[in-house]
Amino acid sequence: MRFSLCKALGYLAGGLWTGWGGRKRIETKQLRNLRRLVEKVRRDSPLFRKLYADLRPSSEIELRDLPVTRKPDLMSKFDDWLTIRSLPLERAREHLRDIEKVGVPIDDVAVFQTSGTSGEPAVIVLSESFVEYASGIMLARFERYHRKLVRDVRKLGVRVTITGGHGHFAGNGFNKLVQRLSPRLAKGFGITFIEAEQPIGQLVDRLNAIANISWIVTYPSMLAILVREKEAGRLQIEPAFFTTGGETLTGDLRERARRAFPSLKYGISDPYGCTECLALSFECSHGRKHVNEDWVILEAVDEAMRPVPDGTLSATVLLTVLANEVQPFIRYDLGDCVRFYEDTCPCGSPFRSFEVEGRQATLVRVGEVTLSPLVFDLEHDQAQRIQLVQIGERDFELRIQLAEGAAAGPVFQEVIASVQRVFRDNGLDDVTVRAAEAPPEFTASGKFHEVVPLRSAKTGSTSELGVHQSVPK
Ligand SMILES: [Zn+2]
Repeated sequence: MRFSLCKALGYLAGGLWTGWGGRKRIETKQLRNLRRLVEKVRRDSPLFRKLYADLRPSSEIELRDLPVTRKPDLMSKFDDWLTIRSLPLERAREHLRDIEKVGVPIDDVAVFQTSGTSGEPAVIVLSESFVEYASGIMLARFERYHRKLVRDVRKLGVRVTITGGHGHFAGNGFNKLVQRLSPRLAKGFGITFIEAEQPIGQLVDRLNAIANISWIVTYPSMLAILVREKEAGRLQIEPAFFTTGGETLTGDLRERARRAFPSLKYGISDPYGCTECLALSFECSHGRKHVNEDWVILEAVDEAMRPVPDGTLSATVLLTVLANEVQPFIRYDLGDCVRFYEDTCPCGSPFRSFEVEGRQATLVRVGEVTLSPLVFDLEHDQAQRIQLVQIGERDFELRIQLAEGAAAGPVFQEVIASVQRVFRDNGLDDVTVRAAEAPPEFTASGKFHEVVPLRSAKTGSTSELGVHQSVPK
């Protein structure tokens, strides 16, 4: 696998040119890229050749002609999915089993895995051109503000990534890949990596031991822990900037982090992305997320996969990645709920902006009631981590990692009472909440979910979950 700086600059120049041309140029570019990709997958992916057999010629194709695709179907036909024949699933899995090979390419591609928050972990294959795209387009979308931010943050100290370390996850792996492919591009920031899965005390010690941390990249759930540790006076770092991803960042947590870390000169950037498409969107100086529409299509749809109007919360979202020609993601059901803004952003960008409401997979269903995990107050000053796990439809257990010297009894009692209050407020009087001895658990990629819903028997397809309406704030 090689990284061509020239090609990355091509994405940069092309991205700027498209942006300057406004909506018309963006839509023209997007359609051209889509038709080119459809032609390519019809030629080189046996799975898509079959799927698209009855559709009109690629040169006339429109997005809505194309069927929706889903992770379990694609993963079960992995060997026919890719447009290359040299990477059967077994070879990819063998690579992923070797933890020493995180960020090491296989031939001309890089391989990562997802955490499987919405069911089954997927194997994600990135082409050279995707890595060039991701580097180039990011720079194309930079405003003056971002350039100053990067310069300042680099001067102030080092960047630390805190994500899952027990697998080939993109959080750490993509940094390593770029470092390997183009040390010049990664220069200045280093790749200090800390495993999210370790005990909090140990993690705090490691962070305190690093001089001049200016930038932390992590999950919102880990940010919440860092905020608590900072408030308690145990964490001493003074970063200027946080970047979060992989989960939903709430307005409350953003505010609390700002208060806990007065050093946060550049606040928190929360660009929306996923392993399937790392450079899906960018966050502008006004804090909105904008889709990189020249190379990415994001469709907000209802349960029947019909488009919802701007301003309406979607049931799920369909992703099309136009920059990855090796593993086609075309109208791929991501399972997130998003809402596109109706107005143009004050930053003046012609790229459409949206907000994310979270993943279907994290919603808790009890009978007819659907609750957002955010309604539960799972904090206690005598606890380091609290996790509410749904073990039966009306059966929950609490797992608590206590603060040093804390007595379990009163902590469990108080948290159980607070959780029961939430259920009662939502008309649920017959829910059991028990104390569990087991410690809180992480996801495979080291994310910490405060609320773990019952795994639906229908995880096979996120669109079948018959999602929510009343998600309380
Ligand atoms: Zn904007």
